[in-house]
Amino acid sequence: MLHDFSYHRPDTLGDALSFLARHGADTTVFSGGTDLFVVIRAGLARPAHVLDLKGIAELHALDWSASDGLSIGACVTVNELVGDSDVRREFPILRIAGEELATYQLRNRATVIGNIVTASPCGDMSGPLYTLGGEVVLQSADGERRLPLGEFITGVKRTMIRSDEIVTRIVVPPTWARAAGGYEKLKRIKGHDLGVVSVAMIKSAAAIRCAISSAAPTPVLLPDFPPDTDAETIKKKAQEMISPIDDVRATAAYRSFMVDEFINRLVDGGLSTETAAEAAV
Ligand SMILES: Cc1cc2nc3c(=O)[nH]c(=O)nc-3n(C[C@H](O)[C@H](O)[C@H](O)COP(=O)(O)OP(=O)(O)OC[C@H]3O[C@@H](n4cnc5c(N)ncnc54)[C@H](O)[C@@H]3O)c2cc1C
Repeated sequence: MLHDFSYHRPDTLGDALSFLARHGADTTVFSGGTDLFVVIRAGLARPAHVLDLKGIAELHALDWSASDGLSIGACVTVNELVGDSDVRREFPILRIAGEELATYQLRNRATVIGNIVTASPCGDMSGPLYTLGGEVVLQSADGERRLPLGEFITGVKRTMIRSDEIVTRIVVPPTWARAAGGYEKLKRIKGHDLGVVSVAMIKSAAAIRCAISSAAPTPVLLPDFPPDTDAETIKKKAQEMISPIDDVRATAAYRSFMVDEFINRLVDGGLSTETAAEAAV
């Protein structure tokens, strides 16, 4: 059974921020609710107020420009990201990883930013956004600040967000636009499931970048490699940097093994680009 709480659905960002300035300590904001209402239902969170962001039109924006990059608003769902022709053309890794997140039905509600703020080690959007250099834009009644994802996520389900702040958007700079990308995710079943371990990789003419999830408390971003780097070099660095654990879903040894296997697959032809024709589908 759900505890008693009050539901608020502001129409403007200003109203949302002034509500949080007064009641932030007792309030949880949400968009899709696919993470939040699971923990509320389980009695693990008991906010006095829940603040629904979906009524705020500007938070639904998903914008691409070659000069500023991609801006993903707080209420952009994973299906909106995956289906967007600019995203598919410029950042194919976001399409590939987004399609790995839960089911089509759930992705109609689940937002990219909800996935990031939850800061689960197995969140499917974080590794890809780490590789692309994503930055989180946080806003409160006092103003705006920006943090690189690697500074925003500080531990298992821990972030730098304050109780009076909303993540309004994530910005992906144009630096890695049109880089080939790939995402490999180990699941316990063939259908939809949370990741047991996953590897995100992008490759441009300048470099290879790789991030690993569910192998440490936060995603692990490896240093950039030259574009002709072999899998052995990337695997060696990955094994130095990850710290997987044994848990109910897998052993640490199996996770380490699969990190190597996924790097092999991605380096050996597992990275895709999408042509403009494919992106228009
Ligand atoms: C059946 C099921 C299967 C799932 N499978 C997967 C999976 O395969 N892979 C995966 O990665 N995840 C999975 N999830 C988890 C979840 O669906 C995703 O993390 C989703 O992207 C969360 O988005 P949301 O909009 O629903 O988040 P919400 O539930 O709305 O919010 C999640 C958290 O983020 C905070 N938050 C949300 N938006 C903001 C904001 N703009 N500013 C500040 N704080 C904010 C909320 O306060 C809350 O703490 C699954 C969940 C379920 C129920």
